[in-house]
Amino acid sequence: MKLHELTLSKAHELLRTKEISSVELTRAVLDRIDGVEAKVEAFITLTPETALAMAEEADQAISRGEITPLTGIPIAVKDLICTQGIRTTCASKILENFIPPYDATVITRLSKAGAVLVGKANMDEFAMGSSNENSGLKITRNPWNLECVPGGSSGGSAAAVAADMCLGALGSDTGGSIRQPASHCGIVGIKPTYGRVSRFGLVAFASSLDQIGPLAKTVEDAALLLEVISGHDPKDSTSAPVEVPRFSGPMKENLKGCKIGLPKEFFNTQGLDPDVSESVHRAIRTLKDLGAEFVEVALPHAEYAVAVYYILAPSEASSNLARYDGVKYGLRKEGQDGLADMYRKTRSGGFGQEVKRRIILGTYALSSGYYDAYYNKASQVRTLISRDYAEAFGHCHAILSPVAPTPAFRIGEKTEDPLTMYLSDIYTLSANLAGIPGMSVPCGFSARGLPIGVQLLSGHFNEAVLLKIGYQFQQATNYHMQKPAL
Ligand code: GLN
Repeated sequence: MKLHELTLSKAHELLRTKEISSVELTRAVLDRIDGVEAKVEAFITLTPETALAMAEEADQAISRGEITPLTGIPIAVKDLICTQGIRTTCASKILENFIPPYDATVITRLSKAGAVLVGKANMDEFAMGSSNENSGLKITRNPWNLECVPGGSSGGSAAAVAADMCLGALGSDTGGSIRQPASHCGIVGIKPTYGRVSRFGLVAFASSLDQIGPLAKTVEDAALLLEVISGHDPKDSTSAPVEVPRFSGPMKENLKGCKIGLPKEFFNTQGLDPDVSESVHRAIRTLKDLGAEFVEVALPHAEYAVAVYYILAPSEASSNLARYDGVKYGLRKEGQDGLADMYRKTRSGGFGQEVKRRIILGTYALSSGYYDAYYNKASQVRTLISRDYAEAFGHCHAILSPVAPTPAFRIGEKTEDPLTMYLSDIYTLSANLAGIPGMSVPCGFSARGLPIGVQLLSGHFNEAVLLKIGYQFQQATNYHMQKPAL
């Protein structure tokens, strides 16, 4: 097997036994990037020199006997996570030349663990999108079919992992942006419980929904990454002072006695692609054979999730994005006509169409005459959605559903119709509204050879049960071992 094709866990094993060095591994990954990046375009910024310097440091640490599961492992990071001295653009013209003066907490944790940063991955501008087509800088392609989208908004991170241009990556998930691209690219993605991972240094989209999480080739790799980035951070007041379990341990337990809920609302939806439905039903049969028990659960308010999300997320975004005014960060376009003209020119030139659409939607929903009718009402329904999940988890350990209604679609297929695009997240959004963790695991391929994922959800801070189910499923199947022909 070629070095860039290794899983994170396998590479760790070879580094630990000194069969390979981090410099060798990093060089192999950088060569792979040289070979396929022109086709996939997963990265906004590549950091080969930083990567090799970090790899050398990692090798020195290993020779001193200091090794963690991430020491010397090449990782990609979504370009809305601040990296000190390395451009962080959010795929927006307004931040095209922004160089953060500090590291996000997750970056500090990755560096402490000895991970090697190979580059900053493309995304939808400010994480608003489901296909990467909203990037203000470039379009990433799906490694399985270069005419299709990789999903979004963490599409660059997912494509980089699927194309073996890194051994694991970080993304962020506000309404599905880790799980959906993971599903479209045939890899594993986890959105942790809200508060599990620090958001310090994550450029905010919708602060009450955003979470950083791992994208990886296997469940055990995702667990290792999650272990390192999780944990309380005094710099983020919404980070939870909850202990971080050794996620990789209980994964090996069998599924006897494990109850999995099937929400009928998620299976009767219109627009569920037959290939997706078939793969998900096959996953259910596999899990039954492994000893899991299935029960029907109800999520009666799930049908409102898209409407609620597209009021709350734009509202928070309109407020968060007010800071890009040409004064504090990034782009400034001089106005001829005073300060207001400078704001207007900077913001209309710097933000893309979708970001502007959301700012307008959010500003409207928060305006004094409409606040009660929209923002307040949506917040109330959000509570009902959370209660549905709490009630459902009284009857099961986890919930299973499709990740997305269709496999990856063609570039350009949905760009003219934002509402159809918004429906890509119909199964993922409610987990963010409820703050619960979710995971996407490869479970099949469409007739056209595009990957399909299955979603698992669980109660707050119970990522362990997701990892256990996901791992047992993975061990019984071989979808995660397939590679795109690039
Ligand atoms: N696709 C959703 C949106 O456009 C979710 C994005 C995300 O999770 N960052 O808002």
